[in-house]
Formats: sequence, C-alpha cells, structure tokens
Amino acid sequence: AKQTGGNQYRIYDKDIISTNDYRFTLENDFQRALEEQEFFLVYQPKVDINTGDIKSAEALIRWNHPTKGLISPADFIPLAEETGFIVPLGEWVLKEACRQAKEWQENGLLSYRVAVNVSAIQFQRTNFDEFVREVLEETNLEPEWLEIEITEGTFMEEDTFTAQAVTKLKDMGIYISLDDFGTGYSSMMYLKEFRLHALKIDRGFIEDVHLREERASIVQAIIQLAHGLQMDVVAEGVETLEELTYIKMLGIDHVQGYYVSKPLIANQFENLIKVPK
Ligand code: C2E
Ligand code: CA
Ligand code: CA
Ligand code: CA
Repeated sequence: AKQTGGNQYRIYDKDIISTNDYRFTLENDFQRALEEQEFFLVYQPKVDINTGDIKSAEALIRWNHPTKGLISPADFIPLAEETGFIVPLGEWVLKEACRQAKEWQENGLLSYRVAVNVSAIQFQRTNFDEFVREVLEETNLEPEWLEIEITEGTFMEEDTFTAQAVTKLKDMGIYISLDDFGTGYSSMMYLKEFRLHALKIDRGFIEDVHLREERASIVQAIIQLAHGLQMDVVAEGVETLEELTYIKMLGIDHVQGYYVSKPLIANQFENLIKVPK
C-alpha cells in the first residue's frame, strides 16, 4: 500500500483519540504549518578539504512556529516519522531543494550538488524513486546535481522494495551518501551490495578527535574502508582548526561543520560562493 499524504494516519476511533490527544493535535499543527508555509530550508556547505571548493549544499529543515518560535528538526522529525507526516513533509523538502538548485543553476551559481535528507519511512511507504523522477522532471534539474542522504536504518529491514528504490536512484545518476555512519546497527553487507558514493562520519567521532585516540582509530578505519570501496568520506560537525588539521592528515575528503560554515538561508549561501577565491 502506498502512502499519498498524512491523512490516513488520522485515528477515528474515539477511545484512541483520547489517549492520543497530544499526537492528534500535533498532526493538525503539522498540516497547518505546511499549508501556512512555516517550514523553510537552510543550507550547509560540504567542502573539499584540500581545495576549499564547495561540493554540496545540504538542505536542513527549520520550522518557524507562530507561537513556539523556531523549532529544530531534532524536535519534530522523530514525531513526523511516528505520525507519518514525514511523507508529505519530505516531499515538500525535496521539491523545495530541487527548485532552489535550479534557481541557483539559472543564476550561474550552481557548481555543487544540493543534498536532501530522506527518512527510511519515505522509502518504506512511498514509491520514492518515482517521486524523485517526477520532481526532477518538474523542476528540470539534472540528476547529477541532486544528492540524497540516507541512514543505515534504511537498510535495516529485509526490504527489497527499499533496496530497489536506492538502486534506481543510483542508476538515475543521483549521488548517494550514507549519513551518521557508525551510529546505527550496521551489518555493512549493504556497503558491498550498493556501492554508494560517500560515507559521512558522525560528529560523535570527530569532536576532539585530535585528543581522543579511540576516535582517531575509528575515523582512520572508516576512511580506509571508504577509500577501499572508492567512496568519498565526509566529516560532519567539524568545529575547530585542530579537528580540521587532524582529519586532513588522516585523509578525509570533505568537511562540513561550524568551522567552515553554519547552515545558511539560501541568499546567505549565495554570498559564500560569490566570494572570489
Ligand atoms: P544530520 O543530517 O546529521 O545533520 C547534521 C546536523 O548537525 C544539523 O542539525 C546541523 O545543523 C548540525 N551541525 C552541522 N555542523 C555542526 C557543528 O559543527 N557542530 C554541531 N554541534 N552541529 C553541527 P539540524 O539542522 O538541527 O538537523 C538535525 C537532524 O534533523 C539532521 O541531522 C537530520 O537527521 C534531521 N533533518 C534535518 N532536516 C531534515 C529533512 O529535511 N528531512 C529529514 N528526514 N531529516 C532532516
Ligand atoms: Ca544529513
Ligand atoms: Ca549526519
Ligand atoms: Ca549526526
């Protein structure tokens, strides 16, 4: 069964409604927020550690709530996944990111991919690869400008449907990154099966890596693993020059983090790339 929107998650049984009151209210809040355009995207660069070139702009969602103020995705993405709202929300994110990428391209600014985070639930409940194909067609964006970030959880269940969707996206020419690498329950079987383009090392391994031997060992091993599979390695959450210098020495390909740039709204991001090198 395919999911088309958030509506089928509504609980009609009265007794269930009373116990799920909070969730029910939240779902209405979500739906309204999407209609009222309270969500927006910010973009954080991933940069080539050796040249400083921007390789990718990762789209990260924000919620400008009328009474609660700015809400972080850490506070609503898990709830959106539980309620199923992640499906329409994720569709909005993809469309908006592709629209922005096309606009950057038309203004002669796009020389990097735009990366979109996709939840495992979107793969399980929708024909996600078909939807991507439609959005690329609608926005007239070439697939090589799109990057999709998935997590290890995407491959957790014996789910041939998801596996096929990931393969189709790859075959379309979309760049696929494995996010938060090392934090999930990975069997690594999928690494040989899918030959994804990049591994993103979670910030938990990068923080103070120059001071923590066990973290350095893990980062070094991940780099070796990724390079052995012809994958790029991205360090997430780089905050200091010390961390940057150390991971450069270890052979990291791309960096992302506050040391390089915080996530920026689209027109601030443009200023990053207009600056002459
Ligand atoms: P993520 O995909 O692992 O994104 C990285 C998070 O780390 C972002 O938080 C980013 O702002 C933050 N970050 C980047 N550099 C640094 C740094 O140097 N130091 C620290 N301390 N943090 C840094 P954010 O934007 O709050 O997003 C949190 C999570 O929410 C994301 O983690 C992702 O899992 C999820 N998320 C965000 N946008 C979307 C979306 O559109 N769809 C889906 N499914 N999930 C999203
Ligand atoms: Ca991500
Ligand atoms: Ca991540
Ligand atoms: Ca993370």
